[in-house]
Formats: sequence, C-alpha cells, structure tokens
Amino acid sequence: MKKATCILLCLALMAALAGCGQPAPSRRQSVFVDLFDTVTVVAGYAETDEAFNQTAQALHDCLLDYHRLFDIYETYDGINNLKTVNDSAGIAPVAVNREIIELLLLAREIYAQTDGAVNVAMGSVLAVWHDYRTAGLADPAHAALPPEETLRRAAEHCDIQNLVIDEQAGTVYLADPEMRLDVGAIAKGYAAGRAAETLAEAGVNRLLLSVGGNVCTVGGHPEGRPWSVGVQDPENLEGFVCAVSVYTGCVVTSGNYQRYYTVGGVDYHHIIDPDSLMPADHFNAVTVVCADSGLADALSTALFVLPYARGSALIESIDGAEAMWIVDAQTTRYSSGFEALITA
Ligand code: ADP
Ligand code: MG
Repeated sequence: MKKATCILLCLALMAALAGCGQPAPSRRQSVFVDLFDTVTVVAGYAETDEAFNQTAQALHDCLLDYHRLFDIYETYDGINNLKTVNDSAGIAPVAVNREIIELLLLAREIYAQTDGAVNVAMGSVLAVWHDYRTAGLADPAHAALPPEETLRRAAEHCDIQNLVIDEQAGTVYLADPEMRLDVGAIAKGYAAGRAAETLAEAGVNRLLLSVGGNVCTVGGHPEGRPWSVGVQDPENLEGFVCAVSVYTGCVVTSGNYQRYYTVGGVDYHHIIDPDSLMPADHFNAVTVVCADSGLADALSTALFVLPYARGSALIESIDGAEAMWIVDAQTTRYSSGFEALITA
C-alpha cells in the first residue's frame, strides 16, 4: 500500500472516531506495517496507554498468525502455509491448520456465489500480473503489459475443481501441477474478522480495526452510538466521499487506486476479471458493508469485477449486505439500503 494511502487510512479512522461526539481524552491508535503487505490500524478507546497497547499487540499477534498461514510468498519454520500448498501442487496433499481449511471452504462458497468472479484458484494468472507490476514499478520506463498468450496459458490452470480439500484428513491438494492459490481477495477480511472476534470473545471492545482498508468493529462505541467509517474518494485520495455508520460489522472497499502500475500513460490495477484476464474496468471503487468480514472482503472484490446489474442482483440477494459503486467522478450507485447508512 502506498504511503499516502496509509496516512489517509489513519485519518479516515481518526475522522471516524472524532465524528462521534466530543473528543474523548482516552482515544488511542496503533499502526502496524508488517501484516498482509499493507497497513493495519487499531484505533479506539481505553483507560490507559498500557491497556490499549496490550490490546493492539494482541490483535497484531493474532493477525500475524493468519498472515503466516495465508502467505503465498514466504514459508515459515514449523508451519505448512499456502506457499507450502502451492509448492506441492501436483505432488502431494499438505497437512494444514484448520484456519486454512476454513478459509478455502469459504473461498469455494464465494466462487459459487459470485459465479467465478472471485476465484482463489487464479493464482497463476495473478502471479503473471504481479510479476509485471513489480517489474514495472521498479523500472517505470520499461513497464510492460503481460503478453496475452502468457495470460491465456496461465488461465488454463485456474479450475477451482482442482482444489481438493479433505476436511477429515485436514489436507489440501492442488490436483493441477501448474495451479496456484492466491487468497488476496478474501484473506485480509477473513483474518481481520477472526482476530476481531477472538478479542471480542476475550472481553475487548470499543475498537476499530482496519487491515488495509478492511474495517471491522471490535465491540460497540463507548457512547453507545454507531461508529462512523470514512470511505476514501478515488478522485482525491486526501478526501472522503462519505462516512458510513455501523454499530457492529465491517466496511470494506476495493478500488482501482489501491495497487497499480502505469504502462504508456495508462494505469493497470490489481483486480483481474477472470473472463478478460485484464483489470476490471466498470468502476473506480466499490464499498461493501456487512456483518461478516471475510464475506465483505470477497463481495467488494466480486462487485468490483461484475457488471453493475449482476453485482446489484448479488448484493440484494444477501441479507444485511449493502454496497456503493463509485462508477466515476459523476456517478455513484447504491444498493437499496446503503444510503440510509450514510452519515456525512
Ligand atoms: P485489496 O487486496 O487491495 O484490499 P481486494 O480485496 O479487492 O483488494 O483483493 C485484490 C487481490 O485479490 C489482488 O491483489 C489479487 O491478489 C487477488 N485478486 C485479484 N483479482 C481476483 C479475482 N478475480 N479473483 C480472486 N482474487 C483476485
Ligand atoms: Mg476483497
């Protein structure tokens, strides 16, 4: 995540907190940059710095466990993670923690629910984009697009049927040796939700957690009013298009400004349409509000990929989920209950 986005995220959460009545002297915030290749902000209320820091550290440590399990780039001593699974494609099933099994079961449901718009088995295609983006950012003068043929060959190895989950044995196997998992579309939201739940069960409350813009509440606001979460303006990354009011739950945004590189004056971002194999180009950003954090993350990516009519039908079919599509600077669309959540 870019530094400007990080600062803005902090401001968004601060604005959210400041917007809730008179400034409380006990408002506090911690920022972590070692999780999920993005910026994590814990913000909220506590009686003492010590109490707040302890809670923020506990959230961090919980998220770090998920980060290591879901990492597709690094392995860690003593655990089998998703890189281990990817490296064992076509070779052997890998024994994994229950958390990995649960994430992948959710991913499979999401695939069905979104008609394949969100496909965690698309790792081979996403890796091609990742490599070209990384090279293009390192050397902008020579930034290039992936050749169509390379993308098409990679796309032959994205069949989610080849993701074999054996719940009883506790193993995961990729039956296609060329297939790779990439859980970037859902892992941050899933992990944020689980970490928030774990701490809430331990009695922690009065906090907002943002993992790279996946915002979750941890318990209610101390004044009993809703939290107010700012939604970044894609046209002016210093500002907000609106603030959304939630008592508990999650607010997640997928946008074309979050991770991209530039080729020949055109920006190419990181959310890929499985049909065209190119960055989806219907919207500048999509925000989803819903109770479940993993689902919210998956839906924001899905709605970013799907044309409005299909995305709208999908969100209206899910109880308690709402969405806002920022089509361009002039046009914004809302699901049936979203506007009622806007506070500013
Ligand atoms: P962010 O990770 O920036 O918050 P998203 O939640 O929308 O944004 O997820 C984007 C990430 O998901 C990409 O970086 C990539 O790893 C992965 N991804 C991109 N397109 C798809 C897709 N169609 N299906 C599944 N995963 C995708
Ligand atoms: Mg997502």
